[in-house]
Amino acid sequence: MDIRTLFVAMSVSNLAFALGIFLYVKGQHSVHHSISIWGVSRFFAGMGAIILALRGVLLPVPVAIVFANAMIWTAIYLSVIAFKSCLNRPVPELPSTGTVFFGFALAWLAFLLLGIPENMRIVLFSVYFSMALVVISKDLSVGWRDNSILQKFLASFTPFLVAVTVLRGVEAVWHPEEGVFSRDAFQVVAIFIGFVETIATSFGFLLLAKEKTDRELEMQAGTDHLTGLPNRRAFYSMAGKVFSLGKRTGQAMSLLLLDIDHFKKINDRFGHDTGDRVLEAFADILRSATRQCDFLVRLGGEEFGVLMPDTPPGAAGDAAERIRLAVQNCEIRAGDEPIRFTVSTGVYGEDAVSSPDMDRYFRRADHALYRAKSHGRNRVEAGEPQEMDADEAL
Ligand code: GH3
Ligand code: MG
Ligand code: MG
Repeated sequence: MDIRTLFVAMSVSNLAFALGIFLYVKGQHSVHHSISIWGVSRFFAGMGAIILALRGVLLPVPVAIVFANAMIWTAIYLSVIAFKSCLNRPVPELPSTGTVFFGFALAWLAFLLLGIPENMRIVLFSVYFSMALVVISKDLSVGWRDNSILQKFLASFTPFLVAVTVLRGVEAVWHPEEGVFSRDAFQVVAIFIGFVETIATSFGFLLLAKEKTDRELEMQAGTDHLTGLPNRRAFYSMAGKVFSLGKRTGQAMSLLLLDIDHFKKINDRFGHDTGDRVLEAFADILRSATRQCDFLVRLGGEEFGVLMPDTPPGAAGDAAERIRLAVQNCEIRAGDEPIRFTVSTGVYGEDAVSSPDMDRYFRRADHALYRAKSHGRNRVEAGEPQEMDADEAL
């Protein structure tokens, strides 16, 4: 197989990907940022490959070497950034793509002027490319257990490419007379694998980006934007599972329903934005006063809930009291004016029961909350197990 032909194929496939992504991004309002970066990276890779294919045919060799390598190195750099962005890894403050491209072009001009032989240039490429692959593979492996099968596959696929890339570099040291266009079987196979890899990675990347976007949308649908807590819908589906588990294990379980006192007055006096900040501060207090295994929810407006698995009502009452005090001591500032607020809480829990029922929990905690409000607010009231609900008594 001719390497020149392979480069043409590599160029066509990359440019086709770049065009496809360009058209897709143009027609969509909310595309994962990483997809655009990937598209630009494919464009650079495609242009680099075509310049390599034309090396010594339509383009003078030194010009082709400088531009093709600058383009391909920029493409690799952008691929790393695209994976980082897609996987929500921190991306450091970076120079623009143009600056990176010119930096690489200057470096390659220097390599030529320094007279670095072709086989050593292959080694340089191998070192750079395998380093980039290691970074991508590491980013793909973070949080391994919870990652999708696709992500695990891509993470396992990259070390194989690292091996091929390193071997190609080693082979180039071994045979100094070989160049990029040598007929050496290993070089041809390595570049063929590179070609297949380009296509596989492009599909893989797009699938991964789609998976991430879907997951983010799913998250957003279940998350309250203001406080970042799960919303009512997400909470109910989760709580349903917790109650089923409670039924199986017969564990103690408790529920807190919390409602900020006279919240309407805060809104009326200081404005809606300040009201929002009070809600955020309240959510922060809830997060810090509860355990990792408790389920928090913003039920709506200024009403919140905490479902506490494996917690008897006494301990839940203590937690509610801690929250009440933390809220009482919390101060928000609207301009120069300090704002303080309080919360009323209804607690309902059962000690190791055989059949905890979600409706019963909500009803009784709600009754307790109602009592807390009517007894003067800023207090915690417990719903009694023997307390008959109005509708139960009927
Ligand atoms: P109580 O002590 O009896 O609970 O009185 P309250 O004023 O807290 O209760 P009420 O239900 O009368 O008022 C709740 C207010 O919360 C009314 C609504 O405009 C406001 N609210 C609901 N959602 C939001 C929000 O997201 N942001 C802000 N700032 N206010 C909200
Ligand atoms: Mg309310
Ligand atoms: Mg209220």
